[in-house]
Amino acid sequence: MIAIYPGSFDPITLGHLDIIQRGSRLFNKVIVAVLRNPNKVPLFTVEQRLEQIRIATQHLPNVEADSFDGLTVNYAQQRQAQVLLRGLRAISDFEVELQMAHTNKTLSTQIETVFLATSNEYSFLSSSVVKEIARFGGSVDHLVPPHIALDIYKCYNHNYPIANPTTTAITPLQSIPMEQSTGTIPNQEA
Ligand code: ADP
Repeated sequence: MIAIYPGSFDPITLGHLDIIQRGSRLFNKVIVAVLRNPNKVPLFTVEQRLEQIRIATQHLPNVEADSFDGLTVNYAQQRQAQVLLRGLRAISDFEVELQMAHTNKTLSTQIETVFLATSNEYSFLSSSVVKEIARFGGSVDHLVPPHIALDIYKCYNHNYPIANPTTTAITPLQSIPMEQSTGTIPNQEA
């Protein structure tokens, strides 16, 4: 059985890779399909993302990277896939994903959406979180494969990210009140 794992993957994270790795044990083939989305301004071009995915999945012989535009179900039919693979992190994902799965079912009754629950350690992780940390000079080495961390640092024009905040003890007195927080990582200089 062939599964399509569609997404933006801008960039691919360890959370995505966990889904791909587990999916590759369930299906004969997993096609990681990068959506060419004219409505989003990405950090990486589709070609860069494909290259990043290929390097990150080279140890998985039944995983392929490809790009597509238009409807995912049309692409799935074209690739003779029977399954759309998606990952679920939180209730917020569930609402959007369920709506998408139902919509796709109205377009093709032949294609099933299969959800894999995130592994606990990646339940907070998204491409946006990675970009936000890197934009403010933080290390993303623990969130993406090494070659992608380098690509990200190049994009934000810094080669020496500050120490990972999770390895730096923050005592309650140093912690930043919620209203000063950017919503992701605390600004240690505030
Ligand atoms: P999209 O723009 O379609 O949401 P993404 O690249 O953000 O594309 O995500 C692709 C798929 O991977 C989605 O099903 C998303 O829920 C899932 N996903 C993203 N991050 C994780 C994670 N950390 N753990 C499990 N699934 C994830």
